[in-house]
Order: sequence, then C-alpha cells, then structure tokens
Amino acid sequence: MNELRCKVLVLGGGPAGYVAAIRAGQLGLDTILIEAERLGGTCLNVGCIPSKALIHAADAARGLSEQRALNAIGLFVGKPKLDFAATIGWKDSIVARLTGGVGALLKKAKVRTLLGMAQIVDGKTAIVRADTGESRIQAEHLVIASGSEAAPLPALPFGGDILSSTEALALTEVPQTLAVVGAGYIGLELGMAFAKLGAKVTIVEALPKILPLYDHELTQPVARRLADLGVETLVGARATSFADGSVRVREADGCERAIPAAKVLVAVGRLPRTNGFGLETLDLAMSGPFVRIDDKCATSMRNVWAIGDVTGEPMLAHRAMAQGAMVAEIIAGEKGAFDHKAIPAICFTDPEIVAVGLAPDAAKAAHGEIRIGHFPFRANGRAMTLQDDEGFVRVVARADNHVVLGVHAVGQGVSELSAAFSLALEMGARLEDIALTIHAHPTLSEAFHEASLTALGHPLHI
Ligand code: FAD
Ligand code: NAD
Repeated sequence: MNELRCKVLVLGGGPAGYVAAIRAGQLGLDTILIEAERLGGTCLNVGCIPSKALIHAADAARGLSEQRALNAIGLFVGKPKLDFAATIGWKDSIVARLTGGVGALLKKAKVRTLLGMAQIVDGKTAIVRADTGESRIQAEHLVIASGSEAAPLPALPFGGDILSSTEALALTEVPQTLAVVGAGYIGLELGMAFAKLGAKVTIVEALPKILPLYDHELTQPVARRLADLGVETLVGARATSFADGSVRVREADGCERAIPAAKVLVAVGRLPRTNGFGLETLDLAMSGPFVRIDDKCATSMRNVWAIGDVTGEPMLAHRAMAQGAMVAEIIAGEKGAFDHKAIPAICFTDPEIVAVGLAPDAAKAAHGEIRIGHFPFRANGRAMTLQDDEGFVRVVARADNHVVLGVHAVGQGVSELSAAFSLALEMGARLEDIALTIHAHPTLSEAFHEASLTALGHPLHI
C-alpha cells in the first residue's frame, strides 16, 4: 500500500471539493483530492450543466414551433425535426469539456487527484483503492465534500421506467408521456423542458402549490406557462404506485386516478451522502441527516471540515463553491466566516425566477416596516423587443434607512440579473444607491432601477 501525506485531504470532487482543493493548492497547501466517480460531481455531470443544456435545447425547439411569435417578426419556418440522441450527445460534449477543465485546473494548482472511493479511517486518515493502486493518506485537515443523491420514494422505487434526474438527463428518446413527482426545482425545470420537447407531462406535487420555496406572486407566471404548454399540474396530490405505464395518484379531494406515464421522474428532494465510506466512525454532530457545521464550515471534530450539499440547504452549487474557497483560506490561516445573506436562488423555469435575500413577509417579520418597489417587464422596452414581457422585478427595503433586504424577479432571462441583485445586498446598498446607478438602456436590468425608484415613490417609466 502507498503511504501518502498531505496538509489537506479533500474527499469529493464536486463544486465544493474541487474548488476547496484548487484554492488550497493556490495558497501553497499540499493537497490531495479523492473523487469516487467523475470530477465535477453532481453539478457538472448530472445536475446544473446537463439540465441547463437540455433546457436550452427545449427552448430552441419550442421557439421554432411557436408560429404566431415567429410570424409576428416576419419569420416563416417549416416544422422542425428533433434528433434527441444528438441533443444528448451535444449535452455530453459540454459536460466532457467542463470536467476535463476541472482536471486541468487541479493540476495547475498542483493538487494530486486520486480516482476511487475514499474510506475514512479516522479524522486524519483515509484509504483509497484508486487506479494507481491502494493508498493510505495521512492529512492534517480532512475536508468532507461528499455531496448528495436523489431522495427515493418508497412507493416509486428508482429503476426501470422510474427515473431520478440522472437517468432523465440521459434518455435518448423523448417519452410520449411523462409523470413528474415533485414540483420543486428539478420537477419544474425538467418537466417544462420535456413538455417543450413534445412529451405530455403531468406534475404531481404533495403541497398545495408549485415551487413551495417561492411566494405566490413569483410562481404565478410559471403556473400560467405550464398551462400554456399543456402540462397538467396536480397539487395537494400523492403518487401511490406505478404499473403498466400508469401512475396512480390520490388527489387533494381523496379521489384516485391513473395518469399515463411511459416514464416517471421522481424529484422529491436530495439526501446528503453520509453512508458507506466510514463517515459514521467519526461520530460527528449532525443536524438532522446533514453534517453539522459552524459559520467556518468546521464540524464538531477539530480539523475536520464539511462543505456543500452534505451540510444541508440551500443545496446549490454556488454556495458549495463559496464554502470550498472559504475553508481553504481558513486552513491557510486567513480569517473568514460564511454569510448566508446574499446567496441567490434561481429556478431555471420558463419564465425564470430569481430570489436573493428576504421576501416581503420575512422582511416584515424581521425588520417591521418595509418598502416594496415593483416594476413589470411589460413597461420595459428590452423585454418587448425579446417578445416576452411577462414578469417583474421586486425590491424590498427597510422603511427607515432604505437598506435593501431582498430582490426578486420573474421573467425571461432574469437569471443574468442575479449578480446585480446579490451585489446590492452584499454591499449593503440603499434604494438610493441603486437609483443613482446608471443602468444601460435598453436592458432588462432597467427594471431593477425602476423597481428601486418605485420603492422611493418616483418611478420614471410607469
Ligand atoms: P456533489 O456535486 O454531489 O459532489 C460530491 C462528489 O463527491 C461526487 O462527485 C461524489 O462522487 C464524490 N464522493 C462522495 N463520496 C465520496 C467518497 N467516499 N470518496 C470519494 N468521492 C466521493 N445547483 C445550482 O446552484 N444551480 C443549478 O442550476 C442546479 N441544477 C441542478 C440540477 C439537477 C438535476 C441536480 C440534481 C442538482 C442541481 N443543482 C443545482 C445542485 C448542485 O448540483 C449541487 O448543489 C452541487 O453539485 C453540490 O456540490 P457538492 O460538491 O457539495 O456535491
Ligand atoms: P425540491 O426540494 O426543490 O422539490 C421537491 C418537491 O417535491 C417539493 O415541492 C416537495 O413538496 C415535493 N414532494 C416531496 N415529497 C413528495 C411526494 N411524496 N409527492 C409529491 N411531491 C412531493 O427538490 P428537487 O427538485 O428534487 O431538487 C433537489 C435540490 O437540488 C434542490 O433543493 C436544489 O437545492 C437543487 N437544485 C437546484 C436547482 C437550481 O438551483 N436551479 C435546480 C435543480 C436542483
């Protein structure tokens, strides 16, 4: 067995782990990263990137079939033909480019990478049976970044035609009928994409509304679009079984019905990966199923750190990466603490939803009197030129000093506004700071400017 030593041992090569390793390497710390499957983790291989590729392809296909919108701008095209296997091949080529890039970045930062499943022996030691042979690694710091996996539903166990997002993103044919269980991020992003690609989609959600994390005002335009796409959405409903190409569903009123489904996508959340690699031997303090961490991502054991999905909500790649970079810097002796105030959340539905900071109800509960500015895209020139003026930007600020507490938007392409929203919160901006910032014309971001002016009581374009 090879005996290896290092300062930092990172377990897991997803966004949390690979960013921690790259930053540690940049800071001159002798670092080893162990990845069981493929560099890039869930995000690059079976999550963020492949799902956004599929959404883009679905939007392009749908755009070509929306004759009224095309004719309105003087375009007349024939019926498009979809070669879905080629779509998936294109998606895979993007994944390969990005995961190859991660390997190169790790090398550049002088990180040693081992491919194999790590087994934790104690808080300073792990064993891995990698392609290069078996190694025992002794480290001063252990960083756990083992990520998460799809939560199963006992009534609909994964396998055959019952898919998690991983299998759904690897289909080579668009199913004629698709039942989606769970109207959260994955269910709606992928459900809408498959509907645009031609599947008859039915969504089954246990709670009384879709996207329960977001307020009604933000989700309403998405609900309208689902209806336009012919997606049937059953809320307050539960899928109880699947057989012979149909899912049995108990609806809110107690009635049972059968939904035709060539495939079933179960997307009811994700669970942290904490079993099967010796983590339990460390006996770390837990927070429910997640590894408990403090604001420095330190666990209950000295020099054992945990980052990313294994530490709980929000399970987002950009949070994982920010934690990874911070932990590397703390191990290198820098000061730091994780601040949750300005983590953007984006749902890549149609239209997209962005939320940063506090929604109106939470802002009121935390700060008392608030101001809300609201600006609709139907009064925004750029949205009109893009042929989609659904949605709005909403700014929430304290009433006394006008400090911005939250910014939310729903609309086509609003994901790209998220950086401006987060920066405003991160910098402690007041409404006046946004009002005095010159926003380029014609852009969707002018709606952010106008929403702030509205909160101050003097909008210019409405
Ligand atoms: P992971 O990415 O899960 O990586 C963990 C890695 O650790 C894996 O590669 C695993 O093989 C490895 N590992 C585990 N145990 C061991 C071991 N014992 N030894 C060695 N290696 C091990 N987030 C966003 O912010 N935006 C999005 O648009 C988005 N879209 C998503 C779409 C889908 C379909 C899914 C499923 C998720 C999406 N997410 C998105 C969530 C995002 O993918 C995760 O938050 C992110 O990948 C978490 O990173 P992580 O490094 O903590 O874990
Ligand atoms: P989710 O938590 O977003 O949504 C799960 C949904 O399933 C909820 O609406 C929940 O009420 C519903 N549900 C739970 N049990 C059910 C049941 N028995 N029957 C019917 N509905 C049920 O989870 P997800 O969509 O699986 O995504 C997992 C995680 O991945 C997300 O929390 C998010 O952190 C991450 N993700 C993020 C993005 C993004 O940032 N754009 C995209 C995809 C995934």
